[in-house]
Parts: sequence; structure tokens; C-alpha cells
Amino acid sequence: MQQVESYVCGDWARPGSGARLIYNAVTGAAMAHAGNDGLDWGGMLDWARDTGGPALRAMTFHQRAAMLKALALHLNANKQALYDISFATGATQSDHLIDVDGGIGTLFVYASKGRREMPDAHILVDGDIEQFGKSGAFLGQHVHTSKQGVAVHVNAFNFPVWGMLEKLAPALLAGVPSIVKPATATCYVTEACVRLMLGAGVLPPGALQLVTGGIGDMLDRLGAQDAVTFTGSADTALRLRSNPNLLANSVHFTAEQDSLNASILGPDAEPDSPEFDLFIKEIAREMTVKAGQKCTAVRRIIAPQTRVEAVIEALSARLARTVVGDPQAEGVRMGALVSNDQKADVLAKAAIIGAEAERVWGDPDTFTPQGPEGGAFVPPMLFHCADPDRAERVHDTEAFGPVSTVMGYRDLAHAADLANRGGGSLVASVMTHDPKVARELVLASAAHHGRLYINDRTGAPESTGHGSPMPHMTHGGPGRAGGGEELGGIRGVKHYMQRTALQGSPDMLTAITGAYVPGATVAEPDTHPFTRRYGDLAIGMSILTRAREITLEDIEHFATFTGDSFYAHMDPDAAARNPFFEGRVAHGYLLLSFAAGLFVEPAEGPVLANTGLENLRFTQPVYPGDSLRVRLTVKQKTPRAKDHGEVRWRAEMLNQRDETVGVYDLLTMVAR
Ligand code: NAP
Repeated sequence: MQQVESYVCGDWARPGSGARLIYNAVTGAAMAHAGNDGLDWGGMLDWARDTGGPALRAMTFHQRAAMLKALALHLNANKQALYDISFATGATQSDHLIDVDGGIGTLFVYASKGRREMPDAHILVDGDIEQFGKSGAFLGQHVHTSKQGVAVHVNAFNFPVWGMLEKLAPALLAGVPSIVKPATATCYVTEACVRLMLGAGVLPPGALQLVTGGIGDMLDRLGAQDAVTFTGSADTALRLRSNPNLLANSVHFTAEQDSLNASILGPDAEPDSPEFDLFIKEIAREMTVKAGQKCTAVRRIIAPQTRVEAVIEALSARLARTVVGDPQAEGVRMGALVSNDQKADVLAKAAIIGAEAERVWGDPDTFTPQGPEGGAFVPPMLFHCADPDRAERVHDTEAFGPVSTVMGYRDLAHAADLANRGGGSLVASVMTHDPKVARELVLASAAHHGRLYINDRTGAPESTGHGSPMPHMTHGGPGRAGGGEELGGIRGVKHYMQRTALQGSPDMLTAITGAYVPGATVAEPDTHPFTRRYGDLAIGMSILTRAREITLEDIEHFATFTGDSFYAHMDPDAAARNPFFEGRVAHGYLLLSFAAGLFVEPAEGPVLANTGLENLRFTQPVYPGDSLRVRLTVKQKTPRAKDHGEVRWRAEMLNQRDETVGVYDLLTMVAR
């Protein structure tokens, strides 16, 4: 019997009093113990808050991103061990790819986004500067800083690896230590993954702890700097989120719970169309992957009334080819449910659905799985609900297994209404090649779903799957789905940070955020900044160029040379009729080119390349006879590789009256 341990304050702790039994999903045999009521809950929180938190917060976002990458590489090199033990959860090898490789992939995405989209700093600036007065002497800026507590992740049984890593990646990137509490049924896989991660030797002490079994009174000990992220059933979510201590201290609580996800077949998708085919394939996959134990699985199949029969026929034919049994056996496509308790629950829920819908495929009483007798096997079960308007249970009963119900719709409004009756879902999909259908359904339905997945013949070759939350996109949904949000790229990192509205002078904001704020004091070095290496450039280092007059000849030359002879540059009468101009104006692109001519240092030097402009605005017209000069200031520095870094310059173009005529961020790569 395996003893699944917890990782507590730097030591592994064996199961003790209150330990629970874990069963092999395929054989039904007891295989492990997990849980210990006597763990030092307070000590765990202290170790995370006092040791893990400060160590993580001392690292910059880039250092934390490098840590995630090292973890991902280490797990990737050792993932076979996770595959090997995951079969006992009932999962097939292709299920492991979703859980194990999907989890590692999420770490990689956060490692890469952290390095590319976040600064090499400790503070994350959010949005633009807000100016309150005329002169800009007192400004506002929103910033995010790491929460100074601990994140407690309570996870569901179906994804013991991905479920942990999709929360851990953004939390660690945010600088917040985590205590992971996997569902007991599959916690031995999570335990193995945690051992591997600790073995990578890159996590600071206190950054990661693991509780297998119950979490004692840990929720009663959390405070305002802590967070709870819950994944599981709506019932458990309600119980945990109403913990009086969490409520009294406004502890951040995110819930990802069950969801009655729908898939809609567009009225344009005839039975011989690519979209009809996609619809059938995606639904069959959603019903059978992980034996339907996916929070995003399609539970309700919404098809035009006239095509319900064709859908049932095509789906049944496909499900008939799904061999159910021992996930390691040759030819098996769908494994077991996680336990016989889960099997009993799924059958009970299927019976509830069966009171409102007829089962048209999959009889659990007569089917013979290709696996051991005691395993938690059920067949895929397809129901048909003939009167979805009057039905209630088909819209609110989640059978967390390979169970789905087909229902017909009269028109698009009816289709959206049925999809929305799930009371808030994680995802709904639409198979249509008609953009008007897609738009109408989005308008009628998007507010009820966290993600809308629209697939057709064009997107299909690269489509990611109805049921796959991508780390780049938010995962979560309103109402029944929990009202939470996870992932979504850097948005997910901010869930573990506090947004604060900072107010102060430009010098204060520059010093705090490490990014130059317009109006802050600049320093003009005696040498051109383009002659300085990355490390010798300081925020606020600046030059003001000489002035150059813009002539009519310049404008005409530029127009002929580039072909841009837009009337406002060439035709004085037409230009004057334009409400923005008094006469012929210089091209914005001419100004940009002249600006570069004014600020570059021509000799070979540490500036390696100009990689782009951002936030470009032309704020005032420039007429022949006006002059132009440029204030170029180091705004932000971001290391990109060992030998170079990105320098973001604020470029402000000024006329002879020192009025700003244009402003932009210039991006350069500078040698280190
Ligand atoms: P569950 O029974 O609600 O359990 C979820 C987690 O809560 C488990 O770790 C469980 O631990 C823990 N838990 C239960 N009671 C607790 C308590 N009193 N104190 C602290 N922790 C407690 O759900 P599940 O059966 O594991 O997962 C299936 C459900 O999760 C389905 O409804 C599915 O839709 C949902 N789900 C949602 C998402 C999503 O992202 N929205 C993803 C996956 C699954 P024990 O196992 O030790 O009881």
C-alpha cells in the first residue's frame, strides 16, 4: 500500500490519523493511503509567508520566469514517471498528454510570457499615466505588487498535474508561495509531480508545499493577503467560500466549478458539411476524453430541430467505435472513471437526466468493458431530450462522466436561450461557417459563458479543441461555473497581486516604477546615449537634438520619393478645406524620418537594431517653415539575452514653440 506523503515546512510527512484510502480506478483495489489530521497547519502557513514569500518577492519577474522554465524543462525530461502512475487514475495515454504535457506546456507559456511581456522588475505597471492638473506635476499610475501571503490551491481529481501547474505558474510568477491540496482520489500523481519539481532544485524554500488528504483548519487561519483558488464541484465551492473566516477577512476566493457546457450546430451546417463533421468529432472527443471527467466537456448538444436525428445517428456511430476498458490495453480509447464512488455518482446523475430525456446510446447494464471486473467503467451515454423548454434537470445536472444530451432548437434565439439555461458555463462552442450566425449567437450568449469557441472549415486545421483551456486565454465562467477567472496570460498573474492606485509627482512615480514618467527630471550625459552600452544607460538619461526646419521642398521630395502624395501634403486648397489643417502639412512619416536623422549617432556602436515604434501619436500639424527637434529619453530597460537588452526610449517631437507635435516609444536593442 503506497503512503502518499505531504510536503510540510521542508519535510515529507507520512499519512497519519484520519488517513483516507485511495483505490485503483482500473482494478477497484485499494492502493494507497493519504492524509494526516495532525499536520502543522499554522507552521505551513508561516513557512510560506515568512520564508517562501520573501524569497520569491526578492526575485524579479524575469528571474521567476526563468525558474518556471527550469521547472518545465525538468518535468519534461522526467514525465514518463508521471505517465506510468497516471494509468491507475483510469486515464489513457492520450489523457496523460492533456494532463501532464498540458501542465508542462502551461509552465512554458508562463515562462515565456513572463520574460517577454513583463519587466525585469518587482512592480508591474498597469495602464497609462493619468494627469490631474494642467502642468502634469501630480500624476496617477496603477501598479501591481505581489501579495504578501500564501495561495492555497484546492484542486479537483480529474487533472492532478495540469490542475496544479495552471495555478502554480501564475502564482509563482506573481511572487506568491503556494500550498497545493489535490483531490485525494488522484493525489499520488500530484505528489510525484511535486517531488520532481523539488528535485529540480530551483524553487526557494517555502515556495511550494503539498497537503494530501484534508486541510485541517487551514482556511480558518487565512488572512487578507492570502488567496484560495478552488476547483471542484459547485457544492464544495459553496461550502468553502462561505467559511466565516474567509468572509470576515475578505480573503480572495476564486472558484472554478462544474458547468453545463453546450455545443451548438449552426443552421447552415448540413449533414454533409465540414462543420457537421467537426461537430460530431468534437462532441465524441469531449464525451470520451478522460471518460468525460472534464469540467469543459460538452454536456448539452444543441442542434437544429430538423437535424436532431442525423446528429444522434452520427454520434452513435462514432461512440460505437469507442473501446472502453483498461487504459493500458491495446485499442482502448476510453479508460475508467476515477473510482467506483464516481461511477455510482455518474449513474445516479444519468438517471436524473434520464427522467427528462431518453437514453439513445450506451447502456451501463449491458455493456462489457475490456478491463478488470472491479474497474470503474461506464459506456458513453447519449440522451435525447425532446422537450428542452420544459426540462430542467438536463440543464442543471452535471453527470461528471461520458454523458451528454441532444436537444433541438427552432431558431438561433432559441439555441442561445437553451445554451444560457446552464446558468453560466465555462465554454460553449458553435460550429458554423456563417459569420452572421456566429455574431448573433455571440450577442445573445457571450454574457453567459467564459469562453466561446467558434469552429469551421477555415479554423479547424489549427483549432485547439472545445474542451482545452489555453493558458493565453481566460478560463472560468459566470454563475454556475463559479464566477472565477484563471489563466489568460499575464491577467492570471495579476490575480495574485494587489492593484494599487499610486499618486505622486513624475519623479516619485519614475523612482518607484523604474519606468520614466513624462515630466520627471532628466539627466543629459556629455556623451550621446547611443554610444553607451546597455548597462551604462540609466532611466531618465536624455538628449535634446538640434532643430531642423521643414521646407515645402522637403514635403514634395518626400511625396515623390515615397509615392505618398495624399492631398493634405500636396494640394493647398484641399488641405485648407480639411478641418484639421490650415494648409499643406508635413507627412507624419517625414517627421519620424527627420527625427531619426536628428537623434541617431551614425558611427558603429552598442545600438544594434531599431525593433519598432509603439504608442505613436501625431498631436499637432507641422507646416512648411516650422522646425523640429527631438527629446529622446531612456524610458525602460529590459534584458532580452546575454549579449543585449531592449531599451525603450520616449521620443517627443517638438516644434519651434516647444509644443509637442508627436510622441512615441522607440525600441532598440543595445549591446550589454
Ligand atoms: P469536489 O468533490 O468538489 O472536490 C474538489 C476539491 O475540494 C478536492 O480537492 C476535495 O478534496 C476538496 N474538498 C472537498 N471538501 C473539502 C473541505 N471541506 N475542505 C477542504 N477541501 C475540500 O470535486 P471533485 O470531485 O474533485 O472534482 C469534480 C468536479 O470538479 C466536477 O464537478 C467538475 O466539473 C469540477 N471541475 C471544475 C473545473 C474548472 O476548471 N471549472 C476543473 C476540473 C473539475 P478531497 O478529494 O480530499 O475531498
